[in-house]
Amino acid sequence: MIREINKVAVIGAGVMGAGIAAQIANSGVQVVLLDIVPEGAADRSIIARKAIEKLIKTDPAPLMSKRNAKLITPGNIEDDLGLLADCDWIIEAVIERLDIKQTLYAKLQAVRKAGSIVSSNTSTIPLAKLVEGQPEQFAQDFLITHFFNPPRYMRLMEVVASPQTSAETVTAIEQFSDVRLGKSVVRCNDRPGFIGNRLGVYWLQVAVVKAIEHGITIEEADAIISKPLGIPKTGVFGLLDLVGLDLMPHINASMAANLPPDDPFLAVNKPLPLVDKMIAEGYTGRKGKGGFYRLNRTGGAKVKEGIDLATGEYRKSQKPDVSALAAARKDLTKLFTVDARLGRYALDVMGATLSYAARLVGDAADSADKIDEAMRLGYNWKYGPFELIDKLGADWVIAAFQQAGLPVAPILEQARKRSFYRVENGERHVLGLDGNYTDVVRPEGVVMLADVKLRSAPIIKNGSAALWDVGDGVACFEFTSKMNSIDNGTFELLGKSLAIVAKQFKALVLYNEASHFSAGANLGMASFAMNIAAWPLIEELVEGGQKMMKAMRDAPFPVVGAPSGMALGGGCEFLLHCDAVQAHAETYMGLVEVGVGLIPGWGGCKEMLARWSEPGKLPNGPMPAVGKAFELISTATVSKSANEAKDYGYMRQNDGITMNRYRLLADAKKKALSLVEGYQPRTTPTYRLPGPTGKTAMMMAVDGFHKLGKATDYDLVVANALANVLSGGDTDFIEEMSEDDVLALERKNFYKLVREKGTAARIAHMLETGKPLRN
Ligand code: NAD
Repeated sequence: MIREINKVAVIGAGVMGAGIAAQIANSGVQVVLLDIVPEGAADRSIIARKAIEKLIKTDPAPLMSKRNAKLITPGNIEDDLGLLADCDWIIEAVIERLDIKQTLYAKLQAVRKAGSIVSSNTSTIPLAKLVEGQPEQFAQDFLITHFFNPPRYMRLMEVVASPQTSAETVTAIEQFSDVRLGKSVVRCNDRPGFIGNRLGVYWLQVAVVKAIEHGITIEEADAIISKPLGIPKTGVFGLLDLVGLDLMPHINASMAANLPPDDPFLAVNKPLPLVDKMIAEGYTGRKGKGGFYRLNRTGGAKVKEGIDLATGEYRKSQKPDVSALAAARKDLTKLFTVDARLGRYALDVMGATLSYAARLVGDAADSADKIDEAMRLGYNWKYGPFELIDKLGADWVIAAFQQAGLPVAPILEQARKRSFYRVENGERHVLGLDGNYTDVVRPEGVVMLADVKLRSAPIIKNGSAALWDVGDGVACFEFTSKMNSIDNGTFELLGKSLAIVAKQFKALVLYNEASHFSAGANLGMASFAMNIAAWPLIEELVEGGQKMMKAMRDAPFPVVGAPSGMALGGGCEFLLHCDAVQAHAETYMGLVEVGVGLIPGWGGCKEMLARWSEPGKLPNGPMPAVGKAFELISTATVSKSANEAKDYGYMRQNDGITMNRYRLLADAKKKALSLVEGYQPRTTPTYRLPGPTGKTAMMMAVDGFHKLGKATDYDLVVANALANVLSGGDTDFIEEMSEDDVLALERKNFYKLVREKGTAARIAHMLETGKPLRN
């Protein structure tokens, strides 16, 4: 029997507890949040209550919708332990002290119901210590569930079970965390720091110690131990600023206390007087007065500064000269060899880290792929350590380690003349300690396009998109261009794909596995055409796009859009034309064209009008829907979650949301197949729009913003074009307009804007800086 989880409690309403409670609320489950009673407090649950208030205000938001806060009930551990009686899962997230955790567990024993599960969010304390002295039943129901900070956005969850933990306990938590909380669950062994902290803390410590030893600046370190290796550009010092320097001594001390004396961490766990001084003076990172980096605002100017590791003083941030490292783009080994000083640092840090990672196979984790997954999802590394070794070549790595005097762990020996991963018969295999390869297994029910790609070739493809057979009669249309931007090639392939799907498949999903579904139209191409006044080219792209969007919507089979990450501009318009959307919870949708001086031209305006005019959504009459569409498009409103996309009408109420990124394709397929029987393309709406009076009303609002300095001169020009479309032009409410009439207005006003200098300037600025120009 799998235990169901319908109500959860989180104890400890600090950084982690509050964030975990928020993610549980995001999954739609009731959660009780308890903390201690501060001495003399009038409101005895003030800590939990304040934590919930903070959740609502924090940015990036821990809650996917502010409404979710209502699912969290605040309380305190003195008066409200009774609230735990009907909880299926109790998560302990109190401070990292064994004695406090153990005392709390004893209290839980008295109130929790039989069969309820208890877990700890400890970062470093082994499970065996946590359950010491607890009754047998407690140990059976107990495990470690280690979330990463911030719990909504970090996809990794490490799970540690003891030999006593019952199998159903583990299954119930793993399933709930995977499907409902969207986590990638990695099973770790009961070792201090598990995988992520064990390796991550070591990596950071070595990087800091070696930078100080070898006179590497923080800017140099963060330029090397970052992008070239697929590590986020915060690098090492930027990452420490982000997580908070004050965590470092605590975690390091706890790791040192729990690790065996021969562990390599102990050799690098040297005192760091500079870090201690920074913490003591409040320089704890972004949450404090500053960290290794800070923005100095004295004298009105904003100057980016960095700590000089030798003197401990701030100085103006230095742009590092790492030009030599460009050679590593083609051959990663060059990172360690082209520049003696920087290369030595890279090898000191990454060599030690990769060597330590290899040692952890059979220790912190059973297999290398778990360590890779933990570092990818816990630290946002593009490649895990063993994937990095494969990139460098195991033989090269072994030779480099031997030369540098680094240990070559048994698993690395096994990889000699081979690699950690191999693909055979379309399956990905990973090398084990015994020298044999085994399947890299996905959790049940997960379908990934990456796996489909190992097994098959696309049905058709060009430079912008590809069509894949993803099984069960479903085809998948994948954007493949840079940033998944949309151009003529996308539409050309879509046209061909629609014909193929009509003949050979039951349904189509729009899906890809990039970080972002689509950044919208290819602005580079648009800018090029505008510069040479190639208007017919642009007109073909707009009109052709409108036709293809309609053809997709009217195709004789269901089309389901499955976005994750950003779905902006044209990417959003694609989704608006689907029969249904199955979105990853972390989907950021919006019609952002005004940012580049344009309006939605692929049917985005008419779709927003149609959606907000649906009966019952807004008060009767044409103006409310027109006003809503105008508000959303003229302010380029982007949803901060799939939940919010529903609030804005970018998604429909009955569209689906998938919490786990890995399950998106499977859910989208399911949704598409559910629409197959008796499928009818949706009927084409007609429009009644307000005409010139409506336009006047919209422009009055924008003029007001302009007078307040909130809208720029060119905003007025763009808003005017948008108001032309949404008001229906020279129409009147009693007149019925067809969809094609509205599309013609989109085109007309779009064509006017592309010929404006203000639009050209906005596009050029966006291409150069990635930010909108406020002209
Ligand atoms: P925190 O200091 O922000 O919060 C701890 C909370 O526990 C405080 O609100 C405190 O009042 C409360 N508390 C203390 N004793 C209590 C008791 N007996 N009963 C109820 N509440 C009590 O700490 P945090 O960063 O949220 O860490 C909590 C746990 O999560 C620790 O075990 C930590 O190691 C782990 N963890 C932290 C991070 C991180 O990045 N901060 C990441 C993963 C895991």
